[in-house]
Amino acid sequence: MVVHTRFAPSPTGRLHLGHAFSALQAHDFARSAGGRFTLRIEDIDGTRSRPEHVAAIRADLQWLGLVWDGEVSFQSQRLALYDAALDRLRGMGLLYPCFCTRADIAASLAAPHGPEGALYPGTCRALEAPDLSRPHCWRLDMAKALEIGSGEDLSWHDAFAGWVRADPAAQGDVVLARKDAPASYHLAVTVDDAAQGITHVVRGIDLFEATHVHRLLQALLDLPTPEYRHHALLTGPDGTRLAKRHGAPTLEALRRAGEDGAALAEQLRAGQLPIGFAAAQA
Ligand code: GLU
Repeated sequence: MVVHTRFAPSPTGRLHLGHAFSALQAHDFARSAGGRFTLRIEDIDGTRSRPEHVAAIRADLQWLGLVWDGEVSFQSQRLALYDAALDRLRGMGLLYPCFCTRADIAASLAAPHGPEGALYPGTCRALEAPDLSRPHCWRLDMAKALEIGSGEDLSWHDAFAGWVRADPAAQGDVVLARKDAPASYHLAVTVDDAAQGITHVVRGIDLFEATHVHRLLQALLDLPTPEYRHHALLTGPDGTRLAKRHGAPTLEALRRAGEDGAALAEQLRAGQLPIGFAAAQA
């Protein structure tokens, strides 16, 4: 098997050190196995994605010395694949249109909570005659999906966490096609990882919970399950996950300030925060 990993940033902002760390993990894992490394731009969210962020992402990765194989892929050019997956799930009776706004959901006092916040209370699950001319998203009927999907052993293997049994029920009726975008993160990433032949999904542990849903979608759509490597997140000097409040410069700012990208990559590989970052803290 040829190892194939990907780095899949959303071009909704400039990359920061946490992204560099994650890209390095995915790149180096593939290279150490003589495998392939793909760059996939997750620009499904047309309102927040910007071409100038895509340009910066390419320049940042090149500056770090990371070379991807083949053409860069863009989710915005792969919508037919997501449509086909949605049609299939719809045909299985597993999707329903939902008209609720965020405020509706928040106002529903009965809404139980899952790992990602308020769970959808199911208001639109059994509408008699939904009016599809009104803005709506499409949700997965989790209970029904589990009846079908759990005919298969729903587990996945993570290089750090070991075997994990998927528990997607805890996330409720997740959105698979958004009101404002033709697919959701969960759907697009699962379809793409399979379609692109990704063998190892290397990403931050902040996306670990999402994998419960991805594993169920793989079962429903007859897709292979890759190996996962949910890596630890880069932390700031106070030991907490690196975030905006740490004031870390973007990769672009470091690049434009004349910092050495290859040296930065080496520091990150050694688990050290780079000099530019340390200076920003002082
Ligand atoms: N596009 C996602 C993000 O930027 C990452 C997707 C993934 O690695 O699964 O957070």
